[in-house]
Amino acid sequence: MTNNDLTFLESINRMYDRAVATLDLRPGLVHKMRRCQSVYQVRFPVEIRGKYEVFTGWRAVHSEHRLPVKGGIRYASVVSQDEVEALAALMSYKCAIVDVPFGGAKGGLCLNPRDYDKCELECITRRFTHDLAAKGFISPSLDVPAPDMGTGPQEMAWIADEYRSLYPNDINAVACVTGKPPTQGGVQGRVEATGRGVQYGLREFFRHDDDVALTRLKGGIDGKRIIVQGLGNVGYHAAKFLRDEDGARIIAIIERDGAIVNEQDGLNVEEVSHYLQENQGVKGFPNAQFIENGHKVLEAECDILLLAALEGQITSENASRIRAPLIAEAANGPITFEADEQLRSMGTVIIPDVYLNAGGVTVSYFEWIKNISHVRFGRLENRLEQVRGKAIVEAIEGALERKVPDDLSARITGGASELDLVRSGLDDTMCRAYREIRGVYRSRELVTDLRAAAYVVSLEKIARAYTEMGI
Ligand code: NAD
Repeated sequence: MTNNDLTFLESINRMYDRAVATLDLRPGLVHKMRRCQSVYQVRFPVEIRGKYEVFTGWRAVHSEHRLPVKGGIRYASVVSQDEVEALAALMSYKCAIVDVPFGGAKGGLCLNPRDYDKCELECITRRFTHDLAAKGFISPSLDVPAPDMGTGPQEMAWIADEYRSLYPNDINAVACVTGKPPTQGGVQGRVEATGRGVQYGLREFFRHDDDVALTRLKGGIDGKRIIVQGLGNVGYHAAKFLRDEDGARIIAIIERDGAIVNEQDGLNVEEVSHYLQENQGVKGFPNAQFIENGHKVLEAECDILLLAALEGQITSENASRIRAPLIAEAANGPITFEADEQLRSMGTVIIPDVYLNAGGVTVSYFEWIKNISHVRFGRLENRLEQVRGKAIVEAIEGALERKVPDDLSARITGGASELDLVRSGLDDTMCRAYREIRGVYRSRELVTDLRAAAYVVSLEKIARAYTEMGI
């Protein structure tokens, strides 16, 4: 960052201060909810290609007002304690907003995953798991990690397996981590969950005409021109669903090596994603203009700017040049505190990270429930639903004396799959949470934007939990 903006952690703390100033909470509680409760740093050696490399990682626990605490593990060449603490705080606030009964935590390991082969990554992940589990920083009842930048289902499967081998008597061992492949105790729909939640969150925003009016946009998502930064797990799924299911036009995609733009026809997200995986960048993608200085494309004209890469992307340096009337924070902390102030004064509407990317932790919660209850969602009731659906179809056909169309009949008699149930639970969660946030925004004079409203919703819930516990 070529600016003097606050660090990620300081930014989050200042956003917290803004929101908490509108509440009447005891000073001790305000202090407690602001800071991380504990941070554990590990350094461990792993033999890589005949030499020992020492890796540094962290697990930060922000708030234990609910247990277990929950939060992803990030693998990136630049990870710091400051960053992990900021992300852990966001997790506490996020879980409270979407009524997921977990505290907040986050982990990070300093390494560029692209520098290591699969076997090496497995050794590193297993050793990291061992060190965290030994100190209680991985446990189905205390601290449950999940994927984040640079990690995915494979890493989660290694973590679960390592934990299980350390604690073979723990019947809930597989619940020590979420985001596992479905064949390893994961749940259908977890990989897409954060992007899916972004889609559901945006859909709900566009259902409220008076909120949409603040952006001076009209109508729904259909036809909206979107610029996406970061086509990883979150950005890819969000962009794909918004384009393929809701009719948005993805006019630019910004990646590490630059940006590609096709304002006229839009970009096919699926094709760009394939290209990105094969070429480690977007440069050369056919039928699109390549712009080497991708960061500059954040400032291009569009309807929605979808930030899905990493923190600190809009700062006091570029905030005044952002032209998007609506910013969707799919990544954590993509806007610094100073930039947030500037954008608000310009009238830009921001759907904040603490709400918008909560789909991941929501579905992680479903996965954890599935693991500790040891039964797949829908397993007990599926057949019953099918039989009842069949009876309804027969009754309708009998009454009307004609056949119900096959596709409608299949929908009534099909029963809900695990994926249907997960998506339905996520949709409901994102809609309820948005309505709660906008309720605070619309009803409290001192709360002047959606981010402050989201923090208020969350801080009131966390404060209540602590107060009821006697703290
Ligand atoms: P990812 O590693 O799968 O994807 C990140 C993408 O951003 C990659 O394609 C990468 O090449 C790109 N990128 C990195 N630096 C960039 C830059 N400077 N400019 C443009 N593109 C850049 O990570 P992810 O899991 O999709 O996470 C993205 C963000 O969403 C992070 O802030 C993460 O904390 C947050 N998040 C992720 C989840 C989840 O379930 N994965 C949940 C909640 C929040």
